[in-house]
Amino acid sequence: MLATRPDTDTIAITRTFDGIEEATHRVISQIGGMASVIREAKVAVLKPNFVAGRAAETGSTTSFVLLKAVAEEVRACGAEPVLCEIPGTEFDREATYTILGVEKFCTDNGIRIVRVDPEGGEDWVELRPAGVKRLRRFRIPRFVQEACLINLPVLKTHVVSTMTLGMKNPMGILPLSDRRSMHTLGIDQCIVDMNRGIKPDLTIIDGSVGQDGEGPLYGNKADLQVLVAGHDSLAVDLVCCQLVGVESSSIPHLKLALEQLGQPSWTLVGEDVGVIKKFRLPEQKALYRFIFWLMYPLDYPYTWVAERGKHLCTTLYSTGLVGTRPQISEGTCTRCGICVKACPLPNVIDLKLLKVNYSTCQRCLLCYEACPEKAISVKGFSGTMRFD
Ligand code: SF4
Ligand code: SF4
Repeated sequence: MLATRPDTDTIAITRTFDGIEEATHRVISQIGGMASVIREAKVAVLKPNFVAGRAAETGSTTSFVLLKAVAEEVRACGAEPVLCEIPGTEFDREATYTILGVEKFCTDNGIRIVRVDPEGGEDWVELRPAGVKRLRRFRIPRFVQEACLINLPVLKTHVVSTMTLGMKNPMGILPLSDRRSMHTLGIDQCIVDMNRGIKPDLTIIDGSVGQDGEGPLYGNKADLQVLVAGHDSLAVDLVCCQLVGVESSSIPHLKLALEQLGQPSWTLVGEDVGVIKKFRLPEQKALYRFIFWLMYPLDYPYTWVAERGKHLCTTLYSTGLVGTRPQISEGTCTRCGICVKACPLPNVIDLKLLKVNYSTCQRCLLCYEACPEKAISVKGFSGTMRFD
């Protein structure tokens, strides 16, 4: 990883009208080429945003086409592309990978997947960056230290952090206990602290399809058709905010980053696109934020008594009482079985009882989208947005 931020970054903006693959190669060339990023590294870690099993077309996750093009560039420089990502705490990694088709995609495209143990252990090395305010120590996968880190987030809103862009995305390579610390200690300050220790060599923000409103999973799909690349995550994030008409001062972690890390300097290359779409930010209600926050400090005593790998939020979501979830209406359902075929996971929907098993359901909503009778409704909240 880069030891320091560049004095003046080069930030490239390109549209994806001619395809995401072409645009990816173009944006990499505009920032100086992949060789300048890889340098002597043998391995390049591709860190997408696979927060949950919601396809890139919904604006929730990073496009496979972008990943494929980045992997090709890495390989052309003589390094090995490796994928490392742990989804959100409330989701299961293997189930998320199954829904998205990550295993097949990586096999087909020569990308090795590294599955670090999300609960900690030998796979990790501790960082204690200087200058942090709250997150005094955290761990990253040991192998990432020697590798080149390529950060591939999505341009979207987030009901907890307002926006999730380049600075927040590396949270997905932290063990779950460190992510819990970040939420408990205050997510906005901890994102800034994390960025004192994790400095990606390249960030390409996937705005081919983004999301506004109640992102990062169930917000409104935003067809931005843009990629933004640069070396300094803060500078890249500030440019992205300009593209979607968002004041950086309204994003708490960016505001703190500007105060504590200083105003970055950059030169724009590529296309001058102005404001592509004015984003609607998620409504932030203090009560929702408090309830969401509370799950994390309470997780400490919970994990003392729970089986290894179980967390309070996973258990709460599996009850079906919290979180966004599908529900089948007996009166409207014709038992055609289309939803069972649409569900990428086995035995989640019981057609006899017309029940969804919430302990294995990953809330991808593919069943909801497939039902021809509109017999499946979505229950629960996403941020302050109530479904139904
Ligand atoms: S797809 Fe809809 S109508 Fe068909 S079984 Fe599922 S819920 Fe019932
Ligand atoms: S039941 Fe529906 S929401 Fe749950 S995993 Fe299956 S398709 Fe996705």
